[in-house]
Amino acid sequence: MNYDAISITRDLVRCPSVTPADAGALGVLENLLKAAGFEVHRVTFGEPGTADIDNLYARIGDSAPHISFAGHTDVVPAGDEAAWSHGAFSGEVRDGFLYGRGAVDMKGGIACSLAAVLQYLADHGGKPKGSISFLITGDEEDISVNGTIKLLQWVAARGEKLDHCVLGEPSNVEVLGDCIKVGRRGSQSGTLVVDGVQGHVAYPHRAANPVPDISRLIVALSEEPLDHGSAQFQASNLEFTSVDVGNTASNVIPAQARAKFNIRFNDNHNHETLRALVDERLAKACGNRIRARIDWQPSNSNVFVTKPGAFTDLAVSAIEEVTGRKPELSTSGGTSDARFISSYCPVIEFGLVGQTMHQVDERTPVSDLEKLTKIYRGVLDRYFA
Ligand SMILES: [Zn+2]
Repeated sequence: MNYDAISITRDLVRCPSVTPADAGALGVLENLLKAAGFEVHRVTFGEPGTADIDNLYARIGDSAPHISFAGHTDVVPAGDEAAWSHGAFSGEVRDGFLYGRGAVDMKGGIACSLAAVLQYLADHGGKPKGSISFLITGDEEDISVNGTIKLLQWVAARGEKLDHCVLGEPSNVEVLGDCIKVGRRGSQSGTLVVDGVQGHVAYPHRAANPVPDISRLIVALSEEPLDHGSAQFQASNLEFTSVDVGNTASNVIPAQARAKFNIRFNDNHNHETLRALVDERLAKACGNRIRARIDWQPSNSNVFVTKPGAFTDLAVSAIEEVTGRKPELSTSGGTSDARFISSYCPVIEFGLVGQTMHQVDERTPVSDLEKLTKIYRGVLDRYFA
């Protein structure tokens, strides 16, 4: 059997699994997991208007504690393939780096966790003291509706309970060991709509121009802080991203102006309280004169945080042992599937270094694959000690 994270990463990278395609990626994992005695389930999810997506859930052991390694085998497109130094789906190793789309985000992370688990089992007579599972989706990089969120429901419906989860997303910023993600801010988008009255620019008294009004509202909503941060999070932030009038004429006062924004929010809020707060501030800024509203977009990106404790401590200790670094417990950055997992069990994100993800020449040092495998092994040893 092949316990080597480098060859598993290479085999995965050679499957061009750009969402929603699987291209054989889950099959690579299925073969290795079955050979190691895992019960492997391939589950396909779909819904109207979306592509069917393959997912994989595999478990060995039937007692607690149950640690799960989560991840996604889908990748973003290669972009300009001619611009790559080595083939985007080649998995080539050159000068100590493994190249290819998904090398760091996050086929390399999955390969390291699998290699660590296979080693652990080989050293313990093929059985863990509790249970180990893999929760792997092909739907993370795009709309994320037929992946982890549904796979978790499917696992729960079988009566299975996860106790802890490690998501192998590239959490490190500069160097392996610098950062564990223990939470993420929530995300909420909206469109500010201001209604005026259309008219000729030469007769403004017969019109109501929404352009100066939306400017005032943008300033009002941007200036007042939403909070001042919390114990584990930076301050929430409302950021306007575009202002649209769609007016092609220079002699017409437009009837409506719209502005899009996104809020990244911390654990002082949830979607409902946040919307209420912003709606209230808008009403205040409008007074009796301006007619404006916010169209809120549906969002499944809620804020979550895994509080420091025994589980984060054992990860920190495993990372320190291999890298000599004490990782920061961070809640910065964008969203990931951890937001879904956090509804079921404590989850931390730790994987490779994210610097080249989604770029041309995505690559990871081979030595990082070896170190990350040792770190995951250290997590397993401590978890089942
Ligand atoms: Zn990812």
